[in-house]
Amino acid sequence: MYDKTITMSYDVVIIGSGLGGLVAGAKLAKEGRKVLIIEQHTSIGGYATCFTQNNFTIDVGFHSVDGLYLDDPKIKVFEDLDVYFNLEFVTLPLELYRYVNNRIDISIPNTKEGAIEVLTEHFPKEKHGIIEFFRTIENIFSSEWKNKTAGEMLDSMIKDNDLKLALVGIIQYYGDDPYYLSALSFSAALARNFKGGNHYIKGGSVKLTDYLANYIREHEGKILLGQEVTKILIDPEKEIVEGVEYRSTNDINEEQTTASAKSVIVNAPLPVAAKLLSSESKNAVQLQEMMKHLKIGHSALNIYFGFETTLDNLNHKSYLTVVNHKSVYSLKDIFENNNMRYSQKNFIFVDYGQTDTGMAPFGKSTGVISTVDYLHNWDNLSDEEYSAKKKEIEKIFIEKLDLLIPGVWDHIEYISVATPKTLERYTKNPKGSVIGFTRNPLQVRMYPLTSPIKNLHFTSAWSVPGGGFTSIIDASWRVAVSVLKRRR
Ligand SMILES: Cc1cc2nc3c(=O)[nH]c(=O)nc-3n(C[C@H](O)[C@H](O)[C@H](O)COP(=O)(O)OP(=O)(O)OC[C@H]3O[C@@H](n4cnc5c(N)ncnc54)[C@H](O)[C@@H]3O)c2cc1C
Repeated sequence: MYDKTITMSYDVVIIGSGLGGLVAGAKLAKEGRKVLIIEQHTSIGGYATCFTQNNFTIDVGFHSVDGLYLDDPKIKVFEDLDVYFNLEFVTLPLELYRYVNNRIDISIPNTKEGAIEVLTEHFPKEKHGIIEFFRTIENIFSSEWKNKTAGEMLDSMIKDNDLKLALVGIIQYYGDDPYYLSALSFSAALARNFKGGNHYIKGGSVKLTDYLANYIREHEGKILLGQEVTKILIDPEKEIVEGVEYRSTNDINEEQTTASAKSVIVNAPLPVAAKLLSSESKNAVQLQEMMKHLKIGHSALNIYFGFETTLDNLNHKSYLTVVNHKSVYSLKDIFENNNMRYSQKNFIFVDYGQTDTGMAPFGKSTGVISTVDYLHNWDNLSDEEYSAKKKEIEKIFIEKLDLLIPGVWDHIEYISVATPKTLERYTKNPKGSVIGFTRNPLQVRMYPLTSPIKNLHFTSAWSVPGGGFTSIIDASWRVAVSVLKRRR
């Protein structure tokens, strides 16, 4: 047991064991730094984790990862940390996603050339716009659209509303409104999908986070679970970080322990971490002020399924299906739809059984429905009201899924609902945000968000430009490298 009365000293303390904390921790431990990761939850990984129920392994916040092409920034990280020798990546089917509404049903391939061909077949009059769209997203960093919204960009190139809707099909991974989402964020992420296709980690995201945690421990690093950082210590004169204070997450009366450190890396959500900074530091106060003015992104409602069959037996062939409600006619309807009744909401359905993900017993499969949601839809409910609402929504979405895959209702062996409240409770991400701060053109310009306090570093979905596995893995490795450049 760790002696609570002693102040321990480390080269680096990392607050949070989300993907960002673990990647940075693994690199630093590999290079011989004395690393301590403090995680408030009883398990590692943040959103990058799985749970097991009825022999089904369910991924909480991971549907697929883009890239793995030659100059994909993840490659150097995976090679450096021996990830490839220890984890198996499954390449997903050639379809990036299937887009369905009551007017069209299109399977969009995961290559630029394939997507242009299929979309042009469906929308021959839009051929030039389609080509321009793909050219722009590939070159977005030098494009005139980089400071505009995705909606503005699409309106300038494409006329057909259904085509625009199909092109922003997977918008919920980046934002909840095409006229608010930065064209830069949207395009950079989408272009990566078309460049390298999509992949899944066999066994789920937990395989990656477990691997990184073991790697850290094997390199003499330490990970404390169920311990919440309550204060980030700063020398206010020198504006330099000195360490952290933490205590048991479940026992607020427990004495605080101090861990001193030459560097502190914040993987916990930035709005949470900013509040842990001492108000004696002028820079900390400025950062706290800034956080108050940044807009927090949307959350998600997730319905996790275990099926007693694989869904190809029900003639379902897509890994990722985007289903838009018939009332969504144009891009401007998307934000409205996100605020509609659940029975009318757009959603994504991921059928993990379409490939060998290793998540379910033989002959069975897992899946998830995910839709944009907001914490305010779930706040201020009594326990009974909350459970009843979850039950009601479970039924609504089973009905919606049964329309997509007739007969699926009879094959559900396990089902559970995770609300924005669930996401916030487990990971402390404010409002259960799945993307950190919103990625509107104004906010995107501030990325990567760096710390104004010496030797304090940020790495999480809240501080990196892109969000999602690719951006976080790349940014966290870079943060570790910049910490290593300091003299020991
Ligand atoms: C439903 C869903 C689906 C997604 N699908 C995909 C996908 O298909 N592909 C993709 O690339 N990305 C996807 N994402 C996004 C991806 O999962 C996240 O961007 C990524 O996992 C976030 O990692 P992070 O390092 O920012 O930390 P987080 O996962 O937010 O972890 C932060 C950690 O900090 C800890 N913490 C907080 N406060 C404290 C404290 N005071 N003291 C100690 N610890 C603290 C938390 O407990 C948590 O473990 C999805 C997300 C969700 C929610």
